[in-house]
Amino acid sequence: MTAVDTHAGPAVRRPQVDPGKLFIGGQWREGAQHCEVIDPSTGSVITTVVDATEDEVSDAVLAARTAFDNGQWARLPGRERGRVLNRVAELVRRRADDLVAVESLDVGKPVALCRPVDVMTTADQYEYYAALAQSMDGAVRDIPINAHAYTRREPLGVVGAITPFNFPLILSTTKIAPALAAGNAVVHKPAPDTPLSALLMAEILAEAGVPDGVVNVVTGGARAGEALVRDPRVDKIAFTGSTAIGKHTAQLAGAALKPVTLELGGNAAHVVFEDADLHKAIGAVIKAFVFNSGQFCMAGPRLLVAEPLYDTVLGILADAVSGVPIGDPFDGTTVIGPMAGERQLAKVLAYIEQARAEGGRVIAGGERLDLNGGFYLRPTVIAGLPAESRVIQEEIFGPVLTVQSFSDEDEAIALANGTPYGLAAGLQTENLARAHRVAARLRAGIVWVNDWAMLDPAVPFGGVKQSGFGREYGPEALASYTTTKSVVISLD
Ligand code: NAP
Repeated sequence: MTAVDTHAGPAVRRPQVDPGKLFIGGQWREGAQHCEVIDPSTGSVITTVVDATEDEVSDAVLAARTAFDNGQWARLPGRERGRVLNRVAELVRRRADDLVAVESLDVGKPVALCRPVDVMTTADQYEYYAALAQSMDGAVRDIPINAHAYTRREPLGVVGAITPFNFPLILSTTKIAPALAAGNAVVHKPAPDTPLSALLMAEILAEAGVPDGVVNVVTGGARAGEALVRDPRVDKIAFTGSTAIGKHTAQLAGAALKPVTLELGGNAAHVVFEDADLHKAIGAVIKAFVFNSGQFCMAGPRLLVAEPLYDTVLGILADAVSGVPIGDPFDGTTVIGPMAGERQLAKVLAYIEQARAEGGRVIAGGERLDLNGGFYLRPTVIAGLPAESRVIQEEIFGPVLTVQSFSDEDEAIALANGTPYGLAAGLQTENLARAHRVAARLRAGIVWVNDWAMLDPAVPFGGVKQSGFGREYGPEALASYTTTKSVVISLD
């Protein structure tokens, strides 16, 4: 799968969404306080959800704790849990239209991309971890005393899953699917800006046969998230979000000696060497920075181009970028939808102003698109900024590409590695030796060669440096939701 493979699929209509409730212990529950959910393509209110209080989060943790300590889920054979997860995958595919409609409405994702990327990837992940649930076995160890020694892989207990606004469905699944496969119970707190698919998934998980209390969903903001992190009955925190909140979460979790995985910010470099296939490279460069309106932790917002190609690439980009279809996410031909929220749009516009103030040349975009009151930003390309500019060093999280040139491989690698982040990186070259050599020297959790965002549930991803630690996807994620117990039985 690549991030912008589009399959138009059946037409999807804007759905009506009822006010959201809390999902605790298998029951839908009204909450004490509420917040509005905004349609980013119009700025109007879609519905309301509960803004969970500390007490409500505590109730959800109690439900998860009870389900884990007293329920059957953790004790089921992995194969049985796998069967349930396969049913989740089946239901996700069967209800794909509903999921596409809700996720596109909530986040502003173009429906043509949301179906293959967000929804089908979710089904694939449940299927992948359904299979891995069967391999949760330990090992017999040969030891020089008269005893039988073996290891068991056991679930950790209650997992607190905290997710950001940009990929609500996928990023909750990257936590919930492996956590469930391993036998844990989960309390999920989605981002309050984009909570709707989490509520629909709670319905799907219950329908698939996940027992009451094993998955709980509490919508709400920082108050709810922090209550979850602080609760001593929670055994692990799986957090995806900004580096700043990730650090705060790690401090709280560290003080309680609670394991934490942190999927944090990114600011990937995309390096185009002079021996690249330029046609393919430009396609990947554009995809890497416009996908999901640039609100993609693994986006490629920093383009590094070999000096001999620099002017040519700028010329091609100026033309090509303005031709990418931007507009209503429910129009099947749209590639770029609105930004997910007004705050995010304002933040990105401020970075563009900063670039102009620092002498950057805006060669495409650079302004808001006035359409239906939505939070649209034209894809923007900026050249001529120094490497130390904040616009290059910080994570912008919008459809903005900065372009720098380099003279040789060493300089390209130094520039690529020259920010605090280390989530993803990519390079374009037809030279196989260079591909391996440079991939090994890029400080990032994942490196793509000659395309961008090639992701699969089997391939782990995660960060180094300020992009966090721990890995999602792959057997690595399953392992992070388990602990190893050794059992030694005397044979005397
Ligand atoms: P964020 O502001 O850090 O929020 C992430 C989640 O944490 C939200 O649910 C948020 O709720 C919650 N939260 C806020 N304060 C909290 C606290 N004190 N304790 C516990 N939870 C708290 O991130 P975002 O703006 O939603 O998402 C964008 C960021 O996520 C970017 O930096 C992006 O790179 C990163 N990201 C990383 C990955 C990855 O895989 N590495 C993937 C996607 C996104 P509120 O919304 O109410 O604040």
